[in-house]
Amino acid sequence: MTNPTLAQAPAGLTIACPACDAPTTLAPDQEAQTARCGACGGALFTGRPMTLTAARFDAHTAPGGLPLVIDFWAAWCGPCKSMAPVFEALAAEFEPHVRFAKVDTDAERALADYFRISSIPTLSFIHDHREVARVAGAMFAGDMRRWLYDALSRAQEAHAKDGAAPEPAGEDRETP
Ligand SMILES: [Zn+2]
Repeated sequence: MTNPTLAQAPAGLTIACPACDAPTTLAPDQEAQTARCGACGGALFTGRPMTLTAARFDAHTAPGGLPLVIDFWAAWCGPCKSMAPVFEALAAEFEPHVRFAKVDTDAERALADYFRISSIPTLSFIHDHREVARVAGAMFAGDMRRWLYDALSRAQEAHAKDGAAPEPAGEDRETP
């Protein structure tokens, strides 16, 4: 599949390591698939969703970083389980342009509350520390892919428009 959105390489972005959270800035000629973390030496892109916690949240939503899509789920949620393989497959497809992360809403109540998650599964798309799209309910691969392309386009448009100085998604919320 070719898509103009994915044709834009993430050169110059600061990539938070999916293992240790340390930031690494990719050189313009660096191939994303072979890029390693400057701190721990691990692969910056593994083709799989990472596990996100409140402690790791800021590192992976910092301005100048990758767009991040979060799957809010729980072990007891049947639709979450049926959607998990779809989310995982699309992680491999959308890397290195989007970081995929999963939040266990039972283990991470503070993050779920911060996002005011009222039903699961819910997907939230974040760029420059701001939520640009959200969708609730299980999705098939085609719908999720369309939603991701749309969210990524919106994130890139917003980024091009206002450049720096991003605002958090909520006015009265504090980062957990
Ligand atoms: Zn690392």
